Amino acid sequence: MLTPILNELSFDLLLLTEGPLLIRDGRFMKKKNQQTERDSSDIPDSIFVSRNTKADAEQHVRNRTAHQLDFYVPGSSLRGVLRSRAEYICRQLAAEQRPICCNIFDTDKESATLFCGRHFELLGENDENPRQIPARDIYAASCAVCKIFGSTAMAGRLRIADSEPMRVKQTVIRDHVAIDRFTGGAREGALFQDLCLKEGHQLQMRVRIINFEIWQLGLLAYVLRDMEQGRVPLGGGVSKGYGSVNASIWNLRVRYASRPSQNSLLGIAELEPELAERYGCLTGLENPDIAALRWVPDTGVAERVYGVTYKPEQENESVITSPIWQACAKTWNAAHPHANTGIPHLKTLQELR
Ligand SMILES: [Zn+2]
Repeated sequence: MLTPILNELSFDLLLLTEGPLLIRDGRFMKKKNQQTERDSSDIPDSIFVSRNTKADAEQHVRNRTAHQLDFYVPGSSLRGVLRSRAEYICRQLAAEQRPICCNIFDTDKESATLFCGRHFELLGENDENPRQIPARDIYAASCAVCKIFGSTAMAGRLRIADSEPMRVKQTVIRDHVAIDRFTGGAREGALFQDLCLKEGHQLQMRVRIINFEIWQLGLLAYVLRDMEQGRVPLGGGVSKGYGSVNASIWNLRVRYASRPSQNSLLGIAELEPELAERYGCLTGLENPDIAALRWVPDTGVAERVYGVTYKPEQENESVITSPIWQACAKTWNAAHPHANTGIPHLKTLQELR
């Protein structure tokens, strides 16, 4: 969308595992038709993702020193989890009405929830002279979730870095059986093993959302509240009870390229009104007051390098009680489609042509 960064909200998401955690390493995953029986190798069927070479990882597993591997959580894993929770929230809110978010697996041209990426691909193909659809039109017609998380047609606003390699004291191997889909019982001879991280492990992920609109922070506030309340599992094996995490937010900061003229939390719609109009940003929503949010300027090197930065008076405010997230959630409430104005419903391909 925009090349210069006008605003940025960033924070560290601290996750404490409350049960086994498994983010599968794709190098050890078998294809579906290979998942019949455990082979004779002593390598588990799923191994937590690490930065080591495949041979190195196998060696450590055989030597029972898997805890020495450089395990990490890819940013894309957390991003997927946040996206799917945001989609869930949007679907719940608009249950009685037309959808406000697409379904990334939906490729049916006639469907109301056709994936935005596919949507623009089809729109481009349909033209007599195939053309590049301008970025502003793609942003304007993208769904609420793709506006934040992106699609194959447009980069998202949210950036999540991979976690640093983690030092773990212990790993755990969990056995489980495959279920016969017909009888519902265990399938004979189909025993699987997962190498997971144990509970009580702490990991930290850096999250940034750039060139945001305030309602987008509001949707994110609902997602983070659900994470804080333990409703959003991370990684694979959720049906087996894996992935339970306790989340908390630290080092929350908001930066502007230049000192804003208003003392409010400002989205791109307020920072660049002309540009916002072209991109179809939501305007006229109430913006939270910085002073009322108990935010203070974060002076020092950050200000000289990045422009003006604000931080909350108190670090690690819970999302539920934090005035910042509360105010953003309020803006989302005002923007969601139960109100007369706000996030538009998805247009079908037919309506956009
Ligand atoms: Zn979408």
